[in-house]
Amino acid sequence: MSKIIGIDLGTTNCAVAVIKESGKPEIIKNQEGDPTTPSVVLFQDFGEGVDEPLVGTLAKRQAALYPDDIVQYVKRRMGDPDWRFDSTAGNEYTAEEVSAIILKRLKQDAEMALGEEVTDAVITVPAYFDDARRTATKQAGKIAGLNVLRVLNEPTAAALSYGVNSEVSGTVLVYDLGGGTFDVTLLKINDSNFEVIATDGDRNLGGFDFDNELMTFVAEQLEAQGAKDVLDDTAVVADLREKAEIAKKSLTTMASTKVQTSVNGKPYKVTVTREDFEKCTASLLERTKELVESVLAESKTSWSGVDHVLLVGGSTRMPMVKAMVEDLSGKGVELDVNPDEAVAQGAAVQGALSGGPETASSGNFLVGDGGGVLNGKTFTIADVTSQSLGVILVDSDSNRDTNVVVIERNSKIPGSHSVPAFTLFDRQTGINVKVTEGEDTDPEFVTIIGESTLSIPPYPKGAPIEITYSYDIDQTIVVEVFDHTAGKSLGTFDIDRVANMDESSVGAAAVRLQSMEIS
Ligand code: AMP
Repeated sequence: MSKIIGIDLGTTNCAVAVIKESGKPEIIKNQEGDPTTPSVVLFQDFGEGVDEPLVGTLAKRQAALYPDDIVQYVKRRMGDPDWRFDSTAGNEYTAEEVSAIILKRLKQDAEMALGEEVTDAVITVPAYFDDARRTATKQAGKIAGLNVLRVLNEPTAAALSYGVNSEVSGTVLVYDLGGGTFDVTLLKINDSNFEVIATDGDRNLGGFDFDNELMTFVAEQLEAQGAKDVLDDTAVVADLREKAEIAKKSLTTMASTKVQTSVNGKPYKVTVTREDFEKCTASLLERTKELVESVLAESKTSWSGVDHVLLVGGSTRMPMVKAMVEDLSGKGVELDVNPDEAVAQGAAVQGALSGGPETASSGNFLVGDGGGVLNGKTFTIADVTSQSLGVILVDSDSNRDTNVVVIERNSKIPGSHSVPAFTLFDRQTGINVKVTEGEDTDPEFVTIIGESTLSIPPYPKGAPIEITYSYDIDQTIVVEVFDHTAGKSLGTFDIDRVANMDESSVGAAAVRLQSMEIS
């Protein structure tokens, strides 16, 4: 059996890892010899309507030169049915397809490094990703020609790699601030048992937002120096965004830095101090602090009950993050965690655990949901749901549509929960199940992620039925409707996801990608 790779498909950077003969996860370097690959695609148009996508560092370097041909931060668009990228060559791509192009390049690089074909992978997602985004990630893998064994939560992956590498026990808080998303997760590690207690996050909060704030700050300084409408020019914005990220990284080690640029042909120079940067991004850091506190409160855990704090994601290199977390927790953070590599390594561990009996030669056997044996040790991994799932029912008192939560967020997965319901009128012949995400009782403030209608015999009003949602380890939902009058199940169904590509479009996209040259 070929090797199973673990992929951290990040907003700004990706990493790939595999379990080596030593039984430890190791990062697979890309073609350029780097441990991470920027999640950037340059759509090169060499004529005849054909795109030749370039992925990674070389694409990122050309972002400012070709702002119209570049796609960055596509992870933020996953599961958005309306988003498309139109290439200069005249082709249209969904976010799943752009992600698939990145994944295909990662697959090619891994195959080159390992000297064998790679088909199976575990791909990580932010814990706070919802159903549409998880489904979109799986579809991207499929389009890229990968068999996605699992989508694994990034903080859980980081904890797995930490646990495998350091053999620790206790309560662990993972603070994961990446390029585009923030997750905070509290878990218990007991020998090789990993039990997630609670998770929260913000899928639109990451290094990218810190870059944006700094870019706005620099633009204001430029305008104070006489430059006009700095952020109205897409080429200037692309240049400034890149320079803002470089300045941000410089401020990790230096107290001040300079940003040089030209607007309308005139050169400008702006000095930025670490203090300026920390001031203009204070509200973003504060938001992460609130989410950390809310996870602790929700799981009724105080800082004295937290044994280890892990910082994961490139943005945790900012000194203010470490200072804030240490100040808040009153303890030092674990230093032997590589913020760029831990997630991919954990995905590789999960890959080995999910590999099944065929991987017996490397000592791995599948023993249960998400767990398994690695290096002779049995692992169990219990994760939780990051979103509440509900159903729209008619409230019998008010006669109004109401969202009723079926599975509460932070429930253990895999899991199954039910709510009772009744037919609404005489001779009703169908049951419509609208699956929602969110906690509010008002349907206006939750997201309908899919629906399905099942036929029933023409029952009188008030016939009892039961709606059951089952969540698997990938947080994929299966719905079952039980007819209590007939005493039988009306069936189990996967929901038709309103925000995702349908199966035939995924198949067509996979065929299109197969014939594409990706470098
Ligand atoms: P990730 O998605 O985990 O690879 O995180 C990438 C994010 O980390 C990007 O927003 C980077 O700008 C940010 N990052 C990487 N290195 C540093 C650094 N030295 N200082 C501040 N931010 C960094």
